[in-house]
Amino acid sequence: MIDERIIDYSLLEQEPHITNPLCERETINELRRRHVFAFNKGLGQNFLVNARIPWQIVRSAGLDENWGALEIGPGIGCLTYELARRAGRVLAVEIDQNLLPILAETLPFDNVEILHADFMDLDLHDLLPRCFGDAPVAVVANLPYYITTPIVMRLLENAPKQLRSITVMVQLEVAERLCAPPGTADSGAISLAVQYYAQPRILFKVPAANFVPMPKVESAVVRMDLRDVPPVQCRDVKRMFSLIRQGYGQRRKTLVNAVGNQGDIAKSRIGDALETLRLPRDIRAERMTLAQFAALADLLAE
Ligand code: SAM
Repeated sequence: MIDERIIDYSLLEQEPHITNPLCERETINELRRRHVFAFNKGLGQNFLVNARIPWQIVRSAGLDENWGALEIGPGIGCLTYELARRAGRVLAVEIDQNLLPILAETLPFDNVEILHADFMDLDLHDLLPRCFGDAPVAVVANLPYYITTPIVMRLLENAPKQLRSITVMVQLEVAERLCAPPGTADSGAISLAVQYYAQPRILFKVPAANFVPMPKVESAVVRMDLRDVPPVQCRDVKRMFSLIRQGYGQRRKTLVNAVGNQGDIAKSRIGDALETLRLPRDIRAERMTLAQFAALADLLAE
């Protein structure tokens, strides 16, 4: 699944001068002691302690000084530090008030703004033009794992036009699911949503030992480039995603049963629509492509 060729490890080896004080264990410990800061597990606080990783994440996000960067969860600021050196402007949204005095000290850059907020409460259509004007924007983040799916869905479904790409570190299994082609064992409802809104790929894996505290899971970095035009045409996108969610919600059942059991559409109607599309009446959601879901939604809307 993971294309190991995408990350050029030999290049990393040739870059011995990557330094990032905010990835050093001593710096982190000293900051924690002085600010009496304790990691909050509930907020998914696992901070990077290998300077090569934020460097590589920012390098793979494909932005330059003409771009704005939106970071979700700066922690003590190690990824923000790299973003500040590459992007034109950086907005980092942090929920934990206890990190604010630390961030005020660790990021002495003119082009960085820290916003104390829950990312899920923000209106991106208001925030992005206010912060970045009409510049293209990339989301770049080491996401808190307890809330990965809601954050990714919010970014995909509510993306203002200027949001061009999302490069995020997530749990490895989630990375595989986000990037799984429809119809494969790893795919889920979210894989189809990602495919509809973006072109995803896994960039590289990150072993647990690169974080403090060390998480129990492996991680990976995923890049999703938002599409200008969806890959399939559908008159009723809401209905298409509702069929996808219901179908995958009971993925061992046939689509007719999984959707029909919800009571909104008669099973016979779903079966007839599948037949019109020359699909077997007993097909399961995980066997269907995005184009087939789109066609089914349109037929059922008639
Ligand atoms: N960027 C840092 C790094 O790479 O070392 C920290 C990443 S840590 C995995 C996730 C960060 O997200 C934490 O700083 C946590 O406090 C913050 N966070 C958690 N939930 C959040 C939310 N809903 N909105 C904004 N920040 C959040």
